[in-house]
Amino acid sequence: MQQKLNLVPFVSVDKMMKLVHLIGVETFLIELAEEIEKDFRRWESFDKVARIPAHSQEGVIELMPTTDGEVYGFKYVNGHPKNTRTGRQTVTAFGLLADMATGYPLMLSEMTMLTALRTAAMSALAAKYLAPEHARTMAIIGNGAQSEFQALAFKALLGVNQVRLYDIDRSASLKCARNLVGSGIDCVIAASAQEAVLGADIVTTVTADKLNATILTDNMIGPGIHINAVGGDSPGKTELHADILHRASIFVEYPPQTRIEGEIQQLSADHPVTELWSVIADRAEGRRGRDEITLFDSVGFAVEDFSALRYVRRKLAETGLYEDLDLLADPDEPRDLYGMLMRAKMPRAVA
Ligand code: NAD
Repeated sequence: MQQKLNLVPFVSVDKMMKLVHLIGVETFLIELAEEIEKDFRRWESFDKVARIPAHSQEGVIELMPTTDGEVYGFKYVNGHPKNTRTGRQTVTAFGLLADMATGYPLMLSEMTMLTALRTAAMSALAAKYLAPEHARTMAIIGNGAQSEFQALAFKALLGVNQVRLYDIDRSASLKCARNLVGSGIDCVIAASAQEAVLGADIVTTVTADKLNATILTDNMIGPGIHINAVGGDSPGKTELHADILHRASIFVEYPPQTRIEGEIQQLSADHPVTELWSVIADRAEGRRGRDEITLFDSVGFAVEDFSALRYVRRKLAETGLYEDLDLLADPDEPRDLYGMLMRAKMPRAVA
């Protein structure tokens, strides 16, 4: 896409929603998962670093950078579980892609919607390699902003057609079930987490609370289950009882980040885990048997956001769903930045 030097394509929330509807939510999730899968196959070509957090009592703000040598990307994201009490989102985000050759931004985008889509696409992609074959029923514990996206991604990629919902706030489960009417997913609202996991092939935990919660206990997890643990993603913020971790084969995105932020922060630093990219790239085994308990200890990694931003950018030229943002000062003579400022001076109003 040709862009004027000073103008940076900006994808607003409104344009992102239009883009998702134009493509279709499920197609978007499938294509996004394919994009992430391709980038996980070339994992070694990315610069990787655990994200950079700023913690407060209420939550965390994180910067998530990466580059493949040609394009640079970062996401700004927060996690503030109490935000919903004041009408705010728990998680909001925006992100940027830039050209490594010039350092000039290529696109700025909202990423609150995009994070929900990429997290769901990532979860379903991991489950494609780890969940039991023919899994059709998934429990979703925590029915907030991420939950419908998770349900739809598992339907689109794996054919999940029943979700068993549980949330401490029943109105969240009712909202989730209402939003999924007509999606082809049958929703059952459970009275407890224990009831929700009954008969489920996959269990997704996607709750928000800044503490070491015990959403799942060992007795709730039978053989052969795949656990998609999404909500434990920060130091002191976990969802699973440690006993489950000792029975499960654990798959992670980027170990140096997950050991700080994921469920495995509860384990010793040398507890064996498998990097998901190596399963996707056919260098390591995924699920090895019917009775194996597999766990995707999801925390969200920069490469997934890079894939998502690149996917969105590719769609811009054909859809025109962006605005030009006057983000970069661009004097005619590059070194005359001050001259540009002076030429922009408003003439004083005549008295
Ligand atoms: P949200 O605040 O919109 O929803 C969270 C829901 O969890 C709420 O409805 C709340 O009532 C429910 N809940 C809290 N404690 C519970 C409990 N003990 N049992 C059952 N339900 C409980 O938040 P969200 O945007 O949906 O995000 C959910 C979680 O996912 C957050 O912790 C967030 O940080 C995390 N997240 C992770 C990734 C990732 O890549 N791993 C990406 C995005 C969000």
